[in-house]
Amino acid sequence: MDAESPRLQLTADQRAALHRAILAWYRRSARDLPWRHTRDPWAIWVSEVMLQQTQVKAVLPFYPRFLRRFPTPAALARAREDDVLAAWAGLGYYRRARHLHEAACVVVREHGGIVPRDPGVFGMLPGVGRYTKGAVLSMGFGTPLAVLDGNVARVLARLFALRGGAREPRGARRLWALAEALVPAREPGVWNQALMELGAVVCTPRSPRCGECPARRRCRAFKMGAVERFPARTERRARERVRRAVALIARGGRVLMTRRRGALLNGLWEPPGVELSSGANAREALAAELRRLGVRSKLEPTGRTIRHTITHRSIEAEVWRGTLAAGAVRGGARFIGRMTTGVGLSALASRVVSLEAENVTRRSRAWAAQPARPSSARRTSSRTSS
Ligand code: SF4
Repeated sequence: MDAESPRLQLTADQRAALHRAILAWYRRSARDLPWRHTRDPWAIWVSEVMLQQTQVKAVLPFYPRFLRRFPTPAALARAREDDVLAAWAGLGYYRRARHLHEAACVVVREHGGIVPRDPGVFGMLPGVGRYTKGAVLSMGFGTPLAVLDGNVARVLARLFALRGGAREPRGARRLWALAEALVPAREPGVWNQALMELGAVVCTPRSPRCGECPARRRCRAFKMGAVERFPARTERRARERVRRAVALIARGGRVLMTRRRGALLNGLWEPPGVELSSGANAREALAAELRRLGVRSKLEPTGRTIRHTITHRSIEAEVWRGTLAAGAVRGGARFIGRMTTGVGLSALASRVVSLEAENVTRRSRAWAAQPARPSSARRTSSRTSS
């Protein structure tokens, strides 16, 4: 431990008793989650990447599907980036999928397709930080490495009454040091999962269920009657509100899309759109963007707004219907619908595709509800006139 680290404040016997209590509770009460049935480091790696900043219930439908499609690093390395993004679509934070893809390519190219167990080597792979390294190697190979995510940080801050949270450097250093001092040589992966589970279901940010907690006899914050004071709250970055306009240009139920370029959602497909500065005229700004893309189209408001959030940006996108002038689409744009495979769509794009599918359904219902046309009479009159 470095000079800044808190002492563990536990004797060897107390540490062993804490382990026993938390592990026994975990074996009794852990949620039955698919990634807890495997020791395959690749399957564990995929689950850990998916679970970053994403709730368990959101990951559950994606995890088995993704692993069926890419059961090994080699299978993922062989895939085109578009197919990887398409398989990830809906989980968000696409940079994770890109890093996993890049890492799988390195594993195949440099390690014969086998997930490296050496922490120095595994930790150098794209997208692998200290947390992922600890999680995958402790759970997949039994390497005694610690993990520190939001749940573990909260449990440790309360157990040892540490004010600093994991979001500030000094707090993070202290918490990592504690996590490392606690990780056992035997079954470190089970211990890490137990701590994360305790934070997820018992030692929750608000109203922790201390009465059910296996660690309460050792918990300093509980003894002080001040559990919610630990860790100290840090200011969250304020969410930025963004106004956009997007063009819904449809053909046969499919929607015109272009590929995004830039730090956010790079490589995903989205309807042409533009961010609106305050007071900007949405129609004019969107028309200018369409011209830039080489798309000639008349725009009408639909009155529909799609709201969604990407990291710290809260986005309101006005949807404008575009009517395409004949033959007016340049290369780089394509029509994409629900049945199009092998393309990664942003969340906004999926919503626009659904909007168009609803429109198509509504139009065909309205058409079917029209009174039957007097087709036989028309045929008769046509015959008569000929
Ligand atoms: Fe968290 Fe309460 Fe358990 Fe302490 S006793 S670790 S505050 S749930």
